[in-house]
Amino acid sequence: MNEYNLPYHLMVEEDIFFRIPEAMADVDPSIGEKKMILVTEENLKNLFGTYIEGIQKSFPNSEIYLMKESSYDEAADLAKYMAMHEIQLVIGFGGGSVLDLAKFAAFIGKQQYICLPTTLSNDSLASPVAVLGTEKKARKSFNCEIPDAIFVDIKIIKSAPKRQILSGIGDTISKYTALIDWKIACLKGKSKGDDFAYMLSKMALNSILHNDIKDLGSEEFIKQLTQALVMGGLAMEIAGSSRPSSGSEHLFCHALEENFSEVTTVPHGISVAIGSYGACKFQKRNLTKIKKVIKKYEIPVKPSDWKIDEKTFIGAWQTAAATRPDRYTILNETDLSDEMLRDLYHEMEEVFS
Ligand SMILES: [Zn+2]
Repeated sequence: MNEYNLPYHLMVEEDIFFRIPEAMADVDPSIGEKKMILVTEENLKNLFGTYIEGIQKSFPNSEIYLMKESSYDEAADLAKYMAMHEIQLVIGFGGGSVLDLAKFAAFIGKQQYICLPTTLSNDSLASPVAVLGTEKKARKSFNCEIPDAIFVDIKIIKSAPKRQILSGIGDTISKYTALIDWKIACLKGKSKGDDFAYMLSKMALNSILHNDIKDLGSEEFIKQLTQALVMGGLAMEIAGSSRPSSGSEHLFCHALEENFSEVTTVPHGISVAIGSYGACKFQKRNLTKIKKVIKKYEIPVKPSDWKIDEKTFIGAWQTAAATRPDRYTILNETDLSDEMLRDLYHEMEEVFS
């Protein structure tokens, strides 16, 4: 049997951040008395000051830590600080990089960890993986644990730019190709399958793929997207790897980040959605579904809109597999010629113009 942990709570409510000890009372009645550190960043402290004050009121024995660079070293330093000061509880308040830093520091120090995402732009809120900076520019994924509780404040998510929601949708629909890549790897004996994790991830995908809520800022949609992202995280935890959520489309995104750092503005979820279109093609599947969903939500996947030119696009695909050589995907079975990738680039430019 695999060993895994699941969060005690997943709550999506308005003003839930002001009621954390009450929400956690059933599993940890004295949580409010714990020595707590709230990990966030400068601009969020300014933007969401009232929320942070509210959280601090619930935890009189607390302090704030402001993220500097979200690197492995910073997480290790923070873990050391927490050990020296006997911190028992870590609360991450922010987007991907803050949450990954808080999650990994809590994992090293074995503290309880509560996740308060301020955006639904990717699945880092519930994944057992932290992406952190290393010596060089490259960011690397490190295994850790999923949070002990996840609380999402609907009001905060509603106030965020629409692009963040689109990015969260992109990260979710990228499972369309990630799951098939996982299957391909299993067939080749390069990965271990897990039916339950596969099913969970597919449910997360389907809940967004076959969704007819028009208003992406509605409470109903925010709840569904949160659940999809969390289900994706649980699938990874159960599978013991990120395979249920990450295939060749994520390798494309890593290559773009690591080898073409001049293209830094593409949000993770959009980048993997761009990757999913190509991956779908390499997997020789019908593109109707993926095209339809990208168009339905108007996910901006036209490469040139992100200053990804033909050369960058070709280079990113050709170096994608090398970013995680141990990850077997359709890329291991595809001839990524300049010519084929050039056609793909122009096809995407046309289809999504
Ligand atoms: Zn992702």
